[in-house]
Parts: sequence; C-alpha cells; structure tokens
Amino acid sequence: MSPFRFSRFFLILSCLFLAGVGQAFAFKTVIIDPGHGGRDLGAADSYVYEKHINLDVSRRLERALREAGFKTVMTRSRDEFIALSERSAHANRYRNAVFVSVHFNSAYRTAALGIETFYRSSQSEKFARLVQTELIKNVGATDRGVKTGNFSVLRRTKHPSILVEGGFISNKNERSAMLDPQYRQVVADSIARGIIQFNRRIF
Ligand SMILES: [Zn+2]
Repeated sequence: MSPFRFSRFFLILSCLFLAGVGQAFAFKTVIIDPGHGGRDLGAADSYVYEKHINLDVSRRLERALREAGFKTVMTRSRDEFIALSERSAHANRYRNAVFVSVHFNSAYRTAALGIETFYRSSQSEKFARLVQTELIKNVGATDRGVKTGNFSVLRRTKHPSILVEGGFISNKNERSAMLDPQYRQVVADSIARGIIQFNRRIF
C-alpha cells in the first residue's frame, strides 16, 4: 500500500469511526418520565404534591421537544401509578433515544434548596452536565451539582439517562415558586435546551 493510499485508508476509517460514534448519541426520541403518580404521591407538603408538578413540567417539556423536532414518549401522561420496572421496560422498547426522569425534591431540613441532576453511566455524565448547566443558568436556583445516583430507572434504562430534581417541595420559597406556571415552564425549557445541546455533541 502506497503512503498516500495508506493515509487515505486511515482518513476513511476515522470518518467511519466518527460517524459511528456520532450516531450513538444522535437521537430522535426523548423518553420523558414524570416521577410517581396515582397512589404514589412523591414528595408532599402543604397540599403540593410532587406527582402533579412532575407531570406538568413533563408535559411542558414534551411540547418544547416536539417543537424542536424530536419524537417524544411519556411513561405516563396522566395521574396513574406506573411501576419503576414498567417505566424502564417501556423506555427500552425504543432505539436512538435518551431518557429523562422529572422529579422534585424533599428533605427533612426545610432550609435545603436547589436543583440537582443525577446520572449513573459514564455516557450520561455529559448529558447530566448540559441539562444542569441550563437549569442553573435560566432558573437561577442554587446549584447542587451533578451526581451519580443509584435510581432504578437509571439502572435499568439502556439509553443515556438522567434524573432531574427541579427544586424542593419541602422548602417554602421553592414550593411557592413551583406553583407558578412560569417557573415550571422555565424548568421544562431548560431541560429541553440541555437535551438539544446533548444531541448536537459529537463525541
Ligand atoms: Zn420524586
């Protein structure tokens, strides 16, 4: 093989490699998982229930992503109980997808506040960082950072997957903020922006 042919061979090989790697992260579908539902209320304080906030933010996220050209799948679209194993089984039926679970937090210490994003696999770390950065930038909440979490939906879902905790229901200020539809819209839009950025990345 001549040196020219040899370098051309490597050029083609590296292009194929990049295309392959790029493809692994270029997704068309976003699976949105509104946490809890039905008899599982999630966090609750002063008649504010996490399951309702999760579903509302998820619906807003669904709308934003569809407008951006993504296909979306909801693990629940109404107030019903869905087992955790069912959520990930549902998610794993799709290909070229990412998974985002939407939650709001609670703590015994009512002063606890802020937003945090969890991931489990190394392929999801970048995804978590992009979403967390958008959330902190746009919501203006305290940055609790990106963390690894051993959540069932993150463990069992095959796709790049994250779990967002969009504020504390147990904190008086954050609880009243999330009762404002504007706040929930900003949270949803920020998650959408992070997802769009993750889709554009070539690793
Ligand atoms: Zn939750």
